[in-house]
Amino acid sequence: MQDIFKGKITKGIAGFYYVYVPGKGMIECKAKGIFRKDNIKPLVGDDVSIQILSEEERTGNIIEILPRKSSLIRPAVANIDQAMIIFAIRKPDVNLNLLDRFLIQMEQQNLKTIICFNKADLENSDGPSSQRLKEIYTKAGYEAMVISATEDDSIDKVLACLKGKTTTVAGPSGVGKSTLINRLQSDTQMETGSISMKIERGKHTTRHSQLIPISEDTYILDTPGFSSLSVFDMEKEELEAYYEEFQPLVCGCKFTACSHIHEPVCCVKEGIKRGEARKKSTENYKLIYQELAQKKKY
Ligand code: GDP
Ligand code: ZN
Repeated sequence: MQDIFKGKITKGIAGFYYVYVPGKGMIECKAKGIFRKDNIKPLVGDDVSIQILSEEERTGNIIEILPRKSSLIRPAVANIDQAMIIFAIRKPDVNLNLLDRFLIQMEQQNLKTIICFNKADLENSDGPSSQRLKEIYTKAGYEAMVISATEDDSIDKVLACLKGKTTTVAGPSGVGKSTLINRLQSDTQMETGSISMKIERGKHTTRHSQLIPISEDTYILDTPGFSSLSVFDMEKEELEAYYEEFQPLVCGCKFTACSHIHEPVCCVKEGIKRGEARKKSTENYKLIYQELAQKKKY
């Protein structure tokens, strides 16, 4: 009787699943039995039991998919605990409208989000203050941090946030995602014998979603799935719910279906004037609202 191991699916390509087994490393598996028995397709992120067929060739068979805590549809992955959105303070300049779009996408998928403002070392008086940004988004109900992916202290800070969880990483290009992911891995002792576990993220960024093991029980999801940011699957009236700081204000609006854009009496607009919400957020909200309104015409 062969030994059974528990692992996690990190990647699926053409019928093969790459299962990371702590202490053993990556095992290339098939999942024939699962299809036949449960008629279920394994997903990246699934915790599984596998049988190792050949230690030498590092091949195995998935024999069971363990119960899913959650699953996302786009991208199709299982057991994601949280999201980390990365933006740079400068180079490229932080785009708060884009940040809102990422935040909305994550919230639509019920993911808790950590906002990471990277390249703190480049901060100067020409650009925004990282501390101010952190404050604004913390007040808006998010966890926010300021880091430099090039510094050890920051890597430790990020590792502490990721520990024991599977985190999806998103953000525009050039903000330092690859740098951060590569650094997070290099700080890890991978117990894999001769096989190098480090997955270079490289410039030819992944087309498929893949999990990168950081340590036992800690994974990062590298995915192209959170980057198409123009289409949201929602009604324009639903948008306000994604602006946490609007919530205490909306009930005061004169019109029940207030869009908080052109109505003459609007508590949200008033609140923003008084500084009770991200100042930029009305502009961003308005742009996205109008986009949603446009979409409905077709
Ligand atoms: P990605 O497109 O989001 O994966 O971004 P990269 O990781 O490729 O980083 C883009 C550029 O920013 C590279 O030249 C990095 O060396 C640089 N970079 C990344 N993090 C930092 C940082 O914290 N400070 C500074 N000064 N540069 C950084
Ligand atoms: Zn209003």
